[in-house]
Amino acid sequence: PLVLGIETSCDETGIGIVRGRTLLSNTIASSMDEHARYGGVVPEVAARAHLEALQPSIEAALTESGVALTDVDAVAVTSGPGLAGALMVGVGAAKALAVSLDRPLYAVNHLVGHIAADILDAGAPPLEYPTVALLVSGGHTSLLLVRDLTTDVELLGETMDDAAGEAFDKVARLLGLPYPGGPEIDRAAAVGDPNAIPFPRGLSRASDMAKHRYDFSFSGLKTAVARWIELRQAAGETIPVADVAASFREAVVDVLVTKALAACRDHDVPRLLLGGGVIANKRLRDVAIERADAAGVTVRIPPLSLCTDNGAMIAALASELIMSGRPPSTLAFGADSTLPVTEIQVAQEAVA
Ligand code: ATP
Ligand code: MG
Ligand code: FE
Repeated sequence: PLVLGIETSCDETGIGIVRGRTLLSNTIASSMDEHARYGGVVPEVAARAHLEALQPSIEAALTESGVALTDVDAVAVTSGPGLAGALMVGVGAAKALAVSLDRPLYAVNHLVGHIAADILDAGAPPLEYPTVALLVSGGHTSLLLVRDLTTDVELLGETMDDAAGEAFDKVARLLGLPYPGGPEIDRAAAVGDPNAIPFPRGLSRASDMAKHRYDFSFSGLKTAVARWIELRQAAGETIPVADVAASFREAVVDVLVTKALAACRDHDVPRLLLGGGVIANKRLRDVAIERADAAGVTVRIPPLSLCTDNGAMIAALASELIMSGRPPSTLAFGADSTLPVTEIQVAQEAVA
């Protein structure tokens, strides 16, 4: 099927067009620059930006893929989780489009969409099940057990406070680096010593692991970095930005990879899929591949352009649902900012 996907859960207005498992176009307009001076995504600003970007993005995606709007077989949209106001813009547009074109509408889960991005990786062999998936972005840090993309995704653990990307953004701010912090910390860390400062690995003590084996916590790490910087500043010392950045990055990477591989080992799953914008971090990819290799686990990483938020992954998920015979969604759904990952598709039509 030819599917047009709409993604507006955060600060990217993503329009993707796929045919079956083939990517035809992936248009992304980001309002990131508008959030820069606030140091994080401002929901109201993001929603307004979506409203402005949607129409031109749809036009651009159609032009890029060389298909006409009337060729589209189905419309897909992210209904959650994400920022409520931002989601509503995409949901409203998707409903209008589906009704006016008289095409089925598939309302799907954003996090499961991140996993579906893998399907569009033309060069890779098909995704095997079960697989553990680690999704890390500015809004999420989730560890999932995927038995089947369209029917069975289980949440193993998630962050109890800040998302990993959010931690990068906050620590960058502490170091006087601009937003978004991930790439900035990466740059600074390149010449730093990752072992210079032993920053804490959240929820990794034996007592924590008993209760929160697959959960993450990054706010303690952020506070530890803040304290470390304050103490040096109070003593009139200059802050070794590169060492702080490298040591912080190492702490985040270490805990992400350790817990993901623990999940693989515990569930006897020799496969790990990575997704989300923080996967842009090369150190994270390198450490994951190296330690997974040693543990006999195969790592899959979709192309980075499909790891950040995009509409193609949403279209891909809907395409899979259609190919496995699932009925479309009714119009009786809204934006669900806390949609659980177990709800892969919402408001599915009842079959007679
Ligand atoms: P969502 O959480 O809904 O997926 P988002 O817009 O917050 O959406 P992404 O766009 O996927 O998330 O990713 C953005 C985040 O990734 C930011 O927090 C940014 O700092 C982080 N990031 C980007 N590049 C890097 C990098 N090289 N290293 C670490 N973090 C990075
Ligand atoms: Mg984003
Ligand atoms: Fe996302």
